[in-house]
Amino acid sequence: MSFTRKVILTLSTNPFVTRFVSKYGMKWGAARFVAGETMDETVTKVKELNAKGLVVTLDLLGESVTTRKEAEAATQAAIDSFEVIRKENLDSNVSVKLTQLGLDIDESFCLDQMDRIVAKARETDNFVRIDMEDSPRVDATIRIFDALFERVGKQHVGLVIQSYLYRSQEDVRKLGKKKANLRIVKGAYKEPKEVAYPDKKDVDRAYLELVEQHLKNGCYTAVATHDDAIINWTKQFVADHDIPRSQFEFQMLYGIAESLQLQLVREGYKVRVYTPYGKDWYPYFSRRIAERPANALFVLKSFFRK
Ligand code: FAD
Repeated sequence: MSFTRKVILTLSTNPFVTRFVSKYGMKWGAARFVAGETMDETVTKVKELNAKGLVVTLDLLGESVTTRKEAEAATQAAIDSFEVIRKENLDSNVSVKLTQLGLDIDESFCLDQMDRIVAKARETDNFVRIDMEDSPRVDATIRIFDALFERVGKQHVGLVIQSYLYRSQEDVRKLGKKKANLRIVKGAYKEPKEVAYPDKKDVDRAYLELVEQHLKNGCYTAVATHDDAIINWTKQFVADHDIPRSQFEFQMLYGIAESLQLQLVREGYKVRVYTPYGKDWYPYFSRRIAERPANALFVLKSFFRK
């Protein structure tokens, strides 16, 4: 992980910085990465994306809740979002973070919340993907995924695997055995070198290996990256190995690499836009700045334009 990225991720937990940016950030720049603070604003944005041929995964912002009440509210919001998707006829599924659903409070309580969410996903013939958070939570996240998978199968629940973790090849091997639907990402958290590759080139190499491993196992794979080299490699790999387009999709974040998203749609690939919404955008926003410090310049420019 680069020095700048470490500094930004550390600063993002500083209480003064948090208060200051939370107050002004949406106005200055977070709106670039967040579809809206309300569901109504978000539905309008999702319809615009769908009209361009992009499909969506909706993510209610929020993580690391400390009370059951907050977790239950987030569970209800996820359930409601499936209803909105059905009612508004949106081409979208849903992504969730387990720390928003009480993982840090009690694992079995969190599983109960997820049970309700996957039941709704099944009832509305839709799909929920569990985002992957920082390394101390990976084991519990996989345990919860495994339990849900037993109940509803790969059509209604999926998981994320991060290529920066040394353990991921083994995790993908195990998950591949049951044909789990996986999103492969590089990983967005500040991790120690004991668990994650410190060098970007190793993270990128591991990414390709995981995509290859999962596709060759015949499993549905979401290739979630804005990295041109990885996207081009994937296109070549699927062509060389006759992997049907119904077995994979590209995924990118709302507001990032939009012309690349549209280019891939024009080429006939499925592209899903991870679309966050809600008021609790600060931690998500900090990770986007840390990935690309140039984004901070964009935010500062918006400030001086005011
Ligand atoms: P990089 O090598 O970081 O970037 C490649 C190129 O993409 C850069 O040169 C730049 O042009 C562009 N780019 C990358 N990031 C930005 C940015 N913030 N702003 C502008 N341009 C940028 N991480 C998790 O840990 N858990 C998850 O569950 C998770 N889910 C994700 C879901 C989706 C759909 C995506 C796309 C990412 C997700 N991530 C998740 C984040 C991921 O781990 C990376 O941090 C993020 O995608 C940046 O890495 P990259 O693959 O784009 O490659």
